[in-house]
Amino acid sequence: MPTLFEKIIAGELPATVLYRDARVIAFTDIRPAAPVHILIVPNKPIPTADDIADADESLIGHMFMVARDLARSQGIAQSGYRLIINCRGDGGQEVYHLHVHLLGGRPLGPLVSRAQS
Ligand code: 5GP
Repeated sequence: MPTLFEKIIAGELPATVLYRDARVIAFTDIRPAAPVHILIVPNKPIPTADDIADADESLIGHMFMVARDLARSQGIAQSGYRLIINCRGDGGQEVYHLHVHLLGGRPLGPLVSRAQS
């Protein structure tokens, strides 16, 4: 079964696409958690961070370069932002196609609650 993100990459599901090239696509999150909430997704379907192969090193670096450039073009580079990759169940991953969340536009607070640590 293709993931939702594979359908967006294939143009079968609509999305607000902010950037795309031969290796990645970036689109706005459908349920934004901050004024800027963009997902940077490799075109290649890598399910989780744990599935990243050594050969993907340049692709992963490219995803972070795209995130950096989007943060600048969205005007949040100076105010600050957060990049998040959730992995599997305890990481809270919903869509099993690797993606980096770019969040910003307001103070984001602590990374995780310490209440249950
Ligand atoms: P995860 O929890 O896997 O790290 O994040 C998945 C993200 O994908 C969530 O923030 C969720 O709102 C977003 N999402 C889920 N379905 C869709 C969709 O169909 N379109 C878009 N643009 N975002 C989606």
